[in-house]
Amino acid sequence: MTVAAPARTRPALLPPHELDALCARVRAFIDEQAIPREDYSRIHDVEWLDTVTRELRALAQAQGLIAPQLPIEAGGMGLCWQDCARVFEECGRSFIGAGALGCAAPDQPNIDTLMHLAAPSQQAQWLAPLMAGEIRSAFAMTEPSPGVGSDPRMLSTRARRDGDDWILDGHKWFTSGAVGAAFAIVVARSDEGASWFIVDTRNPGWKLIRAIPSIDPFSNGGHGEVMLENCRVSADALIGEAGKGFDYAQLRLEGARLFHCMRGIGLAARAIEIAQDYAVRRDSFGAKLSEHQQMQAMVADSHIDLYACRLMTADVARRLDAGESIRHTSSMAKVFVSEALNRVADRAAQMTGAIGMCQDQPIALIAQRLRPFRIYDGASEVHRAAIGKRIFQRGGRA
Ligand SMILES: Cc1cc2nc3c(=O)[nH]c(=O)nc-3n(C[C@H](O)[C@H](O)[C@H](O)COP(=O)(O)OP(=O)(O)OC[C@H]3O[C@@H](n4cnc5c(N)ncnc54)[C@H](O)[C@@H]3O)c2cc1C
Repeated sequence: MTVAAPARTRPALLPPHELDALCARVRAFIDEQAIPREDYSRIHDVEWLDTVTRELRALAQAQGLIAPQLPIEAGGMGLCWQDCARVFEECGRSFIGAGALGCAAPDQPNIDTLMHLAAPSQQAQWLAPLMAGEIRSAFAMTEPSPGVGSDPRMLSTRARRDGDDWILDGHKWFTSGAVGAAFAIVVARSDEGASWFIVDTRNPGWKLIRAIPSIDPFSNGGHGEVMLENCRVSADALIGEAGKGFDYAQLRLEGARLFHCMRGIGLAARAIEIAQDYAVRRDSFGAKLSEHQQMQAMVADSHIDLYACRLMTADVARRLDAGESIRHTSSMAKVFVSEALNRVADRAAQMTGAIGMCQDQPIALIAQRLRPFRIYDGASEVHRAAIGKRIFQRGGRA
């Protein structure tokens, strides 16, 4: 059964000069408020990160720079996705910029999904405080082997009915944002098929085991490993219809992977800017590094990559604004952009020598932050397999 894509038609584009002015304000905010607060000795300190994010969020709110993607009536800036692409790139330049502007994963794609799927009572209880930045959320699908990873059919967390309630049992991991989240969207297998549930993290059946020590820095709420043990939730915890969980997951992922592209471009662009700055100052073999052709080639290739990333991202955003399905195009963009941004970060690290290998400068951390992007929201190999299969099914058309 396929779920019809929700009506995601967005507001009109801002006039170019207004968008440029807005992006300049966001860039100034990121340069003056967010980047100076990045503390490279606290890359996995989730409490500190929550504190600094709250502080920054209040500053962004005061400057009218909060939630670019949310409708104005929901307290946001009411931008279309094409305009969001530019603004997300600006705030994505800082590890903590998207959190500051209320557009970081997993909350932002959770909000986007719940706006379309959640019942009014769920929206009042969970979505409204999430949009206001009063709480954080998580999305729990992936499980350790032999559970679900790349292959959704391997979902092993169970949901069984008990009277009007549901009981969830299973083992989740890499649940981003889990530490300190108020609720999680849990994907579990019921008799009807995969189903989505809202689980209050104060539920005694939700057991956060640990924050997994992953390589990416500054992740709000870390990446949790969680046991669901006899986790009883009431009937109104079910999101949408039982059995439609994979369709919902697909819808969430289509947008989520595009939004990651938007933010990631900003971070990779910052890495190559830092590397360029180093190259114009550093001498080697009687010349500035920037005068060596191989350095120029690395800069050129990085900007070619960034240019292509921006164009692909903008095109998928345009399709999303128009209410078109982005299943195929967001998949293609995700593969290209995640790999291209990793090439950019790797070149920036190479260009800066030892500095690019340490945490005095953000380049190594940017590379660490971008590396998992080739895996989460579908590994490149899985996307390639789906893209290729689809093209043959369409008789060779991309
Ligand atoms: C930083 C980070 C954050 C994450 N956040 C979340 C989250 O918030 N919520 C959540 O539910 N999950 C999250 N994940 C999990 C992520 O979605 C999974 O890691 C991803 O789906 C891959 O699953 P897996 O790790 O089990 O890898 P596996 O399925 O074991 O695959 C391992 C590798 O095998 C290859 N592979 C797999 N299938 C194929 C194929 N068909 N053809 C060729 N090669 C293949 C790929 O290279 C893949 O990377 C996160 C992961 C990371 C690293």
